[in-house]
Amino acid sequence: MKVLVIGGAGYIGSHVSLELMEAGHSVVVYDNLSSGLRENLFEGERFVEGDIMDPGRLEETLGEGFDGVVHLAAFKAAGESMVEPEKYARNNISGTINILNAMCATGVKRIVFSSSAAVYGEPEYLPVDEKHPTRPENFYGFTKLEIERFLEWYDRLKGVRYSALRYFNAAGYDVRGRVSGLERNPANLLPVIMEVAAGMRGELRIFGDDYETKDGTGVRDYVHVNDLARAHVAALERMARTDESLVVNLGSEAGLSVLEIVEAARRITGRAIPAAIEGRRAGDPARLVASSALAADRLGWKAMHSDVDALVSSSWEVYRR
Ligand code: UDP
Repeated sequence: MKVLVIGGAGYIGSHVSLELMEAGHSVVVYDNLSSGLRENLFEGERFVEGDIMDPGRLEETLGEGFDGVVHLAAFKAAGESMVEPEKYARNNISGTINILNAMCATGVKRIVFSSSAAVYGEPEYLPVDEKHPTRPENFYGFTKLEIERFLEWYDRLKGVRYSALRYFNAAGYDVRGRVSGLERNPANLLPVIMEVAAGMRGELRIFGDDYETKDGTGVRDYVHVNDLARAHVAALERMARTDESLVVNLGSEAGLSVLEIVEAARRITGRAIPAAIEGRRAGDPARLVASSALAADRLGWKAMHSDVDALVSSSWEVYRR
């Protein structure tokens, strides 16, 4: 298939592009390089510098003819989305509408969309499956849920098939070492720990140690970015085969606490990684763990590299350079 990877120069998009090419698909990356990096572009793919806020450019690019789109171009900092909702409304929601309308105008009928576990909000039960109520606690999660609703309507009215992949906590780096781009100003736990280990940042701030969890720190479902990437390929191939849309969780089904990750990072890097306990961060649930039974059933997908050692060591390989 010929696939347009929108946001393909970003952290997850770069891994998805590699996985698509590995599976024999042809890749064109569309990215405005606002957070994507030129060093995340690889031999064998074509690059179009473009913005999702530019409908003309999207239509002109898609007009070449594509079998599918993978859309990963979005702002993703939940905290920031509560302070600057306009930015998230514009880029995440309006930007996706631009993509969908350009797809309709050019007859492109398949899209894989990066959704998020943030659509669920505070979990009512664990593990969280796709039937769990969706009540986002932050504006970022709201944008993802709102887009899922648009996708449902475009499916019904325009025959656009979609796979909304609800990522849990994406982490790690390509286990084969092909991706070297570091995210700028990361806010997520693992890259922050890596920056401390590498001496790029003074200390880790641990947001709360008084949760009702195994050691008091927050528990999340971390899923390796190579595992996530594989699911995108499986989702595209499934849509081509079945002509059906899908909403699905992608998680490892294992819960890791902040302290478990810090301890693994100290062991693997051999660095002290100073950490200070701070107050809880607003909107953070104590525990969030996925059920990925549906992904196993529909995509034949299962996390393979998402154990704590693989997550930390694949990241450290990149950060220690
Ligand atoms: N966390 C932390 N310090 C940080 C960043 C994150 O203690 O600098 C904790 C956070 O409270 C949560 C977990 O690490 O329990 C994962 O947070 P992250 O922001 O990576 O992802 P989220 O689960 O919020 O999407």
